[in-house]
Amino acid sequence: MAGAASTAACAGAVSTQQEVALGADYSRQINQQLPLLNDGPTLNYVNQIGQQIAAIADPRGIRYNFYVVNSDVVNAFALPGGYVYVNRGLIERADNLSEFTGVLSHEIGHVAQRHSIEQLQRAQNANLGLQVLYGVLLGRNPSGVEQAGIQLGGGAVFAGYTRDAEREADAVAVGYMVRAGYNPRGMVTFFQELLSMQQRQPSRVEQWFATHPTTQERVTNAQAAIARTPGATGSNLTTDTRAFQNFRSRVASLPAPADRGR
Ligand SMILES: [Zn+2]
Repeated sequence: MAGAASTAACAGAVSTQQEVALGADYSRQINQQLPLLNDGPTLNYVNQIGQQIAAIADPRGIRYNFYVVNSDVVNAFALPGGYVYVNRGLIERADNLSEFTGVLSHEIGHVAQRHSIEQLQRAQNANLGLQVLYGVLLGRNPSGVEQAGIQLGGGAVFAGYTRDAEREADAVAVGYMVRAGYNPRGMVTFFQELLSMQQRQPSRVEQWFATHPTTQERVTNAQAAIARTPGATGSNLTTDTRAFQNFRSRVASLPAPADRGR
């Protein structure tokens, strides 16, 4: 059991502070590569809603940062340490605030449950992630080997989670939504919308399905989570607001993303 013990020791080694440093570094790198929307009111709105949910979801009190990627592709992802990215295409296809908060809650769930760090620790077991992690955390230029690790391991670590992690993120998201006052049915209706888009416009949702396997099973699981969460069907929960519809209209009116009409 020495192996198991040393894995546990490694697991304890990644502190929240290190996680935030890792996420900040990775976020700086990808922000240079992604076409980010720099519209103040849009970012204020996403950050206001996102931080409200994060304050409920993550007891560590770390600061979350939300970004909007100017792409028509429906997608969202989160980096460790609270860096959450939502594509414009997802915002424009969310019918109401509860669908939008369902996606934010799911991504916040990945951060709060430290899914990336768990995967990084699995990569450490393969003697790869450790070097990559310390290279990034120490802020020095990674060696050639580490660079390869960032591409291979980094991609694997941040591009997708296991099905168990996806299920857990969905399950905790229902709880966050109810506590934040949003109707968790939005998660179900958004999954259903994605499944129907998969038939109509498969290229738009390809990335989403690659990283978030959305199946009828996921819809059923979300419905079950709603059924067992106290207060999840309460009439006091918010499904939509005027502010969300204004926000969505504003996003839709911004200059078209480069990948529109592809
Ligand atoms: Zn996910």
